[in-house]
Amino acid sequence: MSERQPGFTIWLTGLSGAGKTTIAIALENELKSRDLYIERLDGDTVREGLTRDLGFSKEDRDKNIERVSFVAKLLSRNGVGVIASFISPYREARANVRQQSTNFIEVYVNAPIEVCASRDVKGLYAKAFAGELKGFTGVNDPYEAPENPEITVYTDQETVAESVEKIVTYLETHALIPQLQPA
Ligand code: ADP
Repeated sequence: MSERQPGFTIWLTGLSGAGKTTIAIALENELKSRDLYIERLDGDTVREGLTRDLGFSKEDRDKNIERVSFVAKLLSRNGVGVIASFISPYREARANVRQQSTNFIEVYVNAPIEVCASRDVKGLYAKAFAGELKGFTGVNDPYEAPENPEITVYTDQETVAESVEKIVTYLETHALIPQLQPA
């Protein structure tokens, strides 16, 4: 029997608009092109299904991450590479996922709030700054930045490809995915 791929959980955390989903999709494409088993879990899509009943209070945000954490645990311990992109503003919630997952890799998707706000992908910063949206992370709700992430990507200074490369290199050097053989 061929050797099984080790499971892992790449956990992308950062402000809204920092680039989590963009990097997650590019990373998923890269890893799938290498024939690896990958499952991507994204904040927006998970909230449309698995956690439709939850809002954005601290309690609900914690429940949201707790359920995702359960899914990531099941997948990563069975040899799947999980790519999870969630604002996940609370350190303790992220620490719990770390504890449950196999080969947990925290990636801090770092961009200054001014940059995220100027991108304003979903028009939410404008609403939050206008006071029309309460409890918006980074504006009027906390974001607890990671203290010791395995990887930090600076999306105001790097291209998407460079950020993806950093993550892929980490996976290769930690023997979580095979090194690509030179052509
Ligand atoms: P998040 O998932 O963190 O809310 P998104 O990925 O939805 O963020 O949005 C990030 C936006 O920033 C996208 O429109 C993306 O094209 C843009 N962007 C610009 N430069 C970068 C970069 N270097 N890395 C990631 N996203 C970038």
